Amino acid sequence: MTPRDLLRRTSVAFRDAGIPDPETDSALLLSSLCGRSSLELRLDMETVLSDRILRDYAKLVQRRLSREPLQYILGEVSFCGLFFQVDSRVLIPRPETELLCELALELLKPLTSPRILDLCCGSGCIGLSLAHALPNAEITLSDCSADALAVTRENSARLGLHVILNQGDLLDGLPDDAFDMIISNPPYIPSADCAALQEEVLREPRLALDGGSDGLSFYRRIAVGASRVLKPGAFLLMELGIGEADAVSGFLSAAGFSSIAVREDLNHIARMILAVYQPLEALCLKS
Ligand code: GLN
Repeated sequence: MTPRDLLRRTSVAFRDAGIPDPETDSALLLSSLCGRSSLELRLDMETVLSDRILRDYAKLVQRRLSREPLQYILGEVSFCGLFFQVDSRVLIPRPETELLCELALELLKPLTSPRILDLCCGSGCIGLSLAHALPNAEITLSDCSADALAVTRENSARLGLHVILNQGDLLDGLPDDAFDMIISNPPYIPSADCAALQEEVLREPRLALDGGSDGLSFYRRIAVGASRVLKPGAFLLMELGIGEADAVSGFLSAAGFSSIAVREDLNHIARMILAVYQPLEALCLKS
């Protein structure tokens, strides 16, 4: 069978199963098996495929038909220009989170060797992208899940990046007065909404998605605890779930953060929140 026939058949099967991007998914699965880019595959649609490729492809197709996310089947995802290994132990990095990293890099520009904490690091996509972009930075990545941290460790080794890893419940085990920035994409989906998520999202770790009854429990805890580990003048930068900006802004101002600002993603959704930690004593000394 040729790639053209195989992709045509597979796309129909994927479409019938309700898979959102049938053509893209069928082509990406085949190109990963053949070790070629999608473009190379498109330029050679008539060379008959070997039996081994057909057998292996059929297995991948079955996995996708069972609604396993494409990224888990491919085993990697591109984020901020780097490739990260992903599997069911971690959340799949999303494009909107790349904007959070861009904003972090903009804010960190004036600092020569910043100390940065990536909280709820999952695959490590945020902290490791920053470590790659900022060779002089000291980056700590923390997650409560030993499984997720194992993926972070594999990714940091593959990318040849030297970072500090910490396993703990949010800020547990992290030093006082240490960081110039906390960056985090915490779990933010309200518990009751988790059951209704797209089938693929349900394959991602519940721990990485579930933000408690109102989706805000991590923001509450981070707002209250962050000041202990931040240096005066440090930044707190977090991704937000839809409709969460006002509530999180309130937590941050109640916890004494200043210069609170919300930024939108490309779909004009309030997606990121930024705040500066200015301890009261520092403000008093200045005035
Ligand atoms: N920091 C990782 C990401 O943004 C994991 C986030 C999480 O597990 N909530 O993909």
